[in-house]
Amino acid sequence: MNIALVAHDKKKDNIVKFSVKYKSILKNHNLFATGTTGTRIHDVTGLEITRYLSGPLGGDQQIGSLIAYEKLDLVIFLRDPLTSQPHEPDVQALLRLCDVHKLPVATNITTAEILLLSMNKNPDWKAIKAEY
Ligand code: PGA
Repeated sequence: MNIALVAHDKKKDNIVKFSVKYKSILKNHNLFATGTTGTRIHDVTGLEITRYLSGPLGGDQQIGSLIAYEKLDLVIFLRDPLTSQPHEPDVQALLRLCDVHKLPVATNITTAEILLLSMNKNPDWKAIKAEY
């Protein structure tokens, strides 16, 4: 799978913890991330990640472009709903594109675990998208 990983600043510790916990799964997939999130994950886990710009500098839009071109299978975007984000329109646009393209997207850690585990175990998830 091609998996995008993004986390707002207050959620970065969580996405690093998640990446350590699921390193044995994540290492078998192609990983993409916004700049700071990708660096944090790589520094702790050593996982290979294609890193884009930092979110506020356009990284969210770069990930959005991958979604628009249907290059991704799963987006894990740990949002911080309690802190105002200077690039909020980009965040909303990215999440909107996930819905346009029927792409599985997790915006909190619980959903992230459930999606990663179930999609990793069950390759039939691709059929769901095709059915509608
Ligand atoms: P970052 O961007 O990983 O570069 O911090 C994420 C975001 O703020 O959307």
